[in-house]
Amino acid sequence: MERLQKIIAQSGYCSRRKAEELILQGRVKVNGKTVDILGTKVRAQDDIQIDGKRIEKEEKIYYVINKPKGCVTTSKDQFNRKTVLDYIPVKERIYPVGRLDYDTSGVLFLTNDGQFTNQMIHPRYHLPKTYLVNLQGLLSEQDIRNLRKGLHTKEADYQPCRVHMLETDPILHRCRFELTIYEGKNHQVKKMMEALGHRVRRLHRTRFGFISADDLKPGEYRRLKPFEVKKLK
Ligand code: URA
Repeated sequence: MERLQKIIAQSGYCSRRKAEELILQGRVKVNGKTVDILGTKVRAQDDIQIDGKRIEKEEKIYYVINKPKGCVTTSKDQFNRKTVLDYIPVKERIYPVGRLDYDTSGVLFLTNDGQFTNQMIHPRYHLPKTYLVNLQGLLSEQDIRNLRKGLHTKEADYQPCRVHMLETDPILHRCRFELTIYEGKNHQVKKMMEALGHRVRRLHRTRFGFISADDLKPGEYRRLKPFEVKKLK
């Protein structure tokens, strides 16, 4: 059971606020009866009509994109920068699941399923997210131990991470490694590296749960298969 205005908004018919107006104006019928009380709960299978016309309830859809760097992860940007949705010209109203920074690339989900979104970003679900980190600076043995133990900074406490070193360049004072985190705090990887005194040069999310974007070029996307959605939840 969900609130009527939420179901109407989820159908893509209008915003939740507009749905509330329509309900209060007595223009909404549920199973043939006018409902003009906000907060009335309805079932997904209930017949909802607005001004005598049945609304089509939107099918839940799920995409994965290999987000390129140089775009924001919001539907609209106040500075008119390119958004990740510019790469996915679909008719459904979909939203990114969590955020990747403007200059971060890699696996990002988009969906119209709010419940799925909450599950994917809620720390309770502990879905591993793996990043390929290009770092200016070298990770010391102590840094790695701290990351594996859980990093405590002035700003936040971070849970233990998995670190897998790939390359170290002592001449250019750079390194490359895989970092797996089990939460999704704001700018988490950059903040953790900052706390260790290093700067992230490039960040790419290679995996979210078991989904990778290896088969997708930057900017390419595909529908998630039903079994993939089921396994992620
Ligand atoms: N951590 C960051 O710092 N940035 C991202 O985009 C993702 C994780």
